[in-house]
Amino acid sequence: MVDKSKIMGAGLRGRCPNCLEGPLFDGYLKFAHECLTCGVSFAREDAGDGPAVFVILIASFLVVPFALIFQMTLEPPIWLTLLIWVPAIIIVCLALLRPFRGLMFAIQVMNNAAPGHLENDEN
Ligand SMILES: [Zn+2]
Repeated sequence: MVDKSKIMGAGLRGRCPNCLEGPLFDGYLKFAHECLTCGVSFAREDAGDGPAVFVILIASFLVVPFALIFQMTLEPPIWLTLLIWVPAIIIVCLALLRPFRGLMFAIQVMNNAAPGHLENDEN
């Protein structure tokens, strides 16, 4: 059994949680169909909106205090505030989204998570 921190680190780096080597993504946010190194399928990836929620919270925590301090101390026109801080929060979100998507998938694999079903469900 591979150490859980290594699996989570591989997810953060966009690497396969099974072999810790192969690329997890085929594009910026799109998962590859399978690992190019070990061949494990990534079809069960189902992070949903989980990474986006964490990224929005963290990006807001990182950017909003600086935007507020900027606004309250310099009192710039609103167009300047928007010109600076809207791109800043977009850049921070885009920078965090891929690592968090990989991390959520690594945690899903680590915990063998899958959609729930009832014991007597025959469908
Ligand atoms: Zn692999």
